[in-house]
Order: sequence, then structure tokens, then C-alpha cells
Amino acid sequence: MAEKRDYYEVLGISKTATADEIKSAYRKLAKKYHPDLNPGDKAAEEKFKEIGEAYEILSDADKRARYDQFGHAGVDPNYGAGGYGGGFGGVDLNDLFGDLGDLFGMGGGRRRANPNAPRRGGDIRVSLALSFMEAVHGCTKTVSVNRQDVCAECGGSGAAKGTSPDTCPDCHGSGYVTVQQRTPFGVMQSSQPCTRCGGKGKIIKSPCPKCHGSGKTSSAKRVEVNIPAGIDDDQSLRLQGLGDAGVNGGPSGDLIVIVTVRPDAMFERDRFDVHVTVPITYSQAVLGAEIEVPTIDGKVRYDVPEGTQSGTMFRLRGKGIQYVRGRGRGDQYVQVVVEIPKKLTKAQREALKKFEETLKDDNYEQRKGFFKSLRDKFENG
Ligand SMILES: [Zn+2]
Ligand SMILES: [Zn+2]
Repeated sequence: MAEKRDYYEVLGISKTATADEIKSAYRKLAKKYHPDLNPGDKAAEEKFKEIGEAYEILSDADKRARYDQFGHAGVDPNYGAGGYGGGFGGVDLNDLFGDLGDLFGMGGGRRRANPNAPRRGGDIRVSLALSFMEAVHGCTKTVSVNRQDVCAECGGSGAAKGTSPDTCPDCHGSGYVTVQQRTPFGVMQSSQPCTRCGGKGKIIKSPCPKCHGSGKTSSAKRVEVNIPAGIDDDQSLRLQGLGDAGVNGGPSGDLIVIVTVRPDAMFERDRFDVHVTVPITYSQAVLGAEIEVPTIDGKVRYDVPEGTQSGTMFRLRGKGIQYVRGRGRGDQYVQVVVEIPKKLTKAQREALKKFEETLKDDNYEQRKGFFKSLRDKFENG
């Protein structure tokens, strides 16, 4: 943390400054460095904070006395422990500047939300777990959604049948009231949410019995969702207009279905390709064989050629997953792995030994090459 500047120095005043002098120095500087007048200017923002902090302390007789005696350590509990946590302290800047907005040409400064403006309803998010096959082929699923609707009884007004909401007499429907406040700078005006109507601009004398005046009802709905073929884990579908109903005639939000795909015991997915591992026997690898390979559309037959090495990968073109957008499909990759039997009978062992004795170096291309390099490296060097 940078060394804190002296508060008197920050405000450009002497140690003997009167309360009025402090006040006027603060006002002058705060106006100069106000973030609304220096958009995006970090230095001005820091300066503005510093000024606010100095004013908070020096404008309070008690704090000022402690500061005069002990310096920063006397007034800031965080001092020395890193960081001034107070932000703008007890000074409400909106109160201070609320009525100065027009003076600055800021058009009021504070943005007010019109309580009668149409507002879009909220989005609803649900998660949906699919099996690998459901995701690959697409499916129809029903999800349960707790959706807010416009109350059918009162049409969203919140008022009981035959009655209608009254415009709030305090704010005249705007949801905001102007209040006069006594501040160190005199009586100032600021705009605050109307407490009488809670900022709604309307008062309901006899609330609708169904929605209790909220104008909204919430109910569980079952929504049928068409899942397109090829959707992947972590992808989502946006169903327009199936979220919460809008307010004051605004559009409904969306229903967002977030898909998770459970892993499959046999198939593994890589974008639109499918990977499968098929165990084959030693004899099948040596002699070649027609094997059955599972695909997402069912079993297919595949000819493993004679002399296939363990770990060889074959590609079945176009047997992968449907592209979610657009035509065509990915491929399926089939890896064959030779499975070594673990328990053999005595007769099987004998037969295998006899078979092994008949094999020559020429039967093993890789071993031949490997042992030749081994000899070259260590025996002939
Ligand atoms: Zn009101
Ligand atoms: Zn109602």
C-alpha cells in the first residue's frame, strides 16, 4: 500500500481550517475529480476516493481530533494492516451530487428505472442428462420447469377482479420521490425510491386472491424438448419464449437446457468421431479374421487382415456422429488389441511351445530389426 498522504494536504487546506473551509475545499475538489466527469480516468478515480476519505475524517470533529493526535493510525482501523476498507465512508455521494447533475450537464446523473416500462422475463436454466446413444441419435425429453406466468386471474395487474391498481399519490406513478435533506452544504434535494408503493408506482387496495398482488403465478410445467442428433456434453439448447413471463407486456425469457452426456462403456467420443477398442485373439491377428465391430447404428462386420499388429487402428468412414448443424457425419475409429490369454492348460502350453519352436527370425520383422540394432550398438562398437 502506498504511503497515505496527509488529509489536510489532500484537501489543500491548513491544519487550522474551519469546518466551512474544509467543506468548501472538499466540494471544489470532489466536483473536479468526480468519476462521471472523468470517465475511465483511474487517476481521477483514486483522487476522488482520497478526497472523500480525507473529508470523512476532517468533517467529523471527533475523528479530526484523533487524526490530529495520532495521524492515520488514529482513525483507520485498517491502517498498517493493509488497505483502507471504507470506500467513500459515510458520505453518500448520491445525496451530495443528486441535485447537481443538471448543473454538470449530466442529465440528472442517476438513471431511474421506469416501473411501468415493459421488461423481459427471466431465463430459466435446467440441466438434462442424456445417455451416449440419446445424444448421438437425438431424442425427445420432458423437463420439469418452474415458470413464472402472468396471473390469469388478474391479467398481471395484481388487483382483484373488478378493481384496478391506483396510481401512487406520493410519486404519481414514477416510483421515485424527491426528498429534501439537510446536509453540511444546506438543504439538498435527491431522488429516492418511493416507500409508499415500494417503487412500483401503483398501489393495490384489494389484491388479487390468486397472486396476492404480485401479478405473477409460479407453477411447475412439463416442457417437451427435442434434442437434435449429435449434441455433445456441456452444450445447451435455448428455447425462445419458454422462460418466465415478461412484466408490463415485455417478452418472455428463454428456457435454456444444459445437456450433460453420460459416458458410455463401449463408445468414446471425440467431436464427431467415435472411438472403439475391440479385443481380438492372437490367432485372429496372425491369420486374419472377420470380426464384429459395434457402431452407433449397430454391429458391422470387418475383415482384419492377416498379420495385423496389436494396437492397429482402422477407420470406418462416415460411421461416426451426425453433425449437429449441417449434413454429414464423422468417422468411427476401431482399434484392435490382441488379448493375451492368462490361464492355459498343460496341453495348450505344450502346443504353444511346439509352435514357437517352428518360428524363425524371419517370422518376426520387428524383432529381427530390433535385435540387429541392439547388436550393432553394444557388440560391434
Ligand atoms: Zn409511489
Ligand atoms: Zn393475480
